[in-house]
Amino acid sequence: MVVDVNRYVCGYCGACVSVCPVDALELVETWLEVHECCTECGACVRVCPVGALEVRA
Ligand code: SF4
Ligand code: SF4
Repeated sequence: MVVDVNRYVCGYCGACVSVCPVDALELVETWLEVHECCTECGACVRVCPVGALEVRA
């Protein structure tokens, strides 16, 4: 997992899921799953309205 989800901030809106080019994000009920296929492109980080995502350094 190379994208960190701040689970106290995430509102589970699903915006990040739809922008991920490799389908690495999955909303499972109230849990945002990040799959290993993430390429660290940062698209989800930019689209999150509450800043809950961060590409791990
Ligand atoms: S865009 Fe942000 S608030 Fe919405 S589901 Fe993704 S991480 Fe959570
Ligand atoms: S950084 Fe890119 S590849 Fe990784 S979860 Fe976000 S949108 Fe998908």
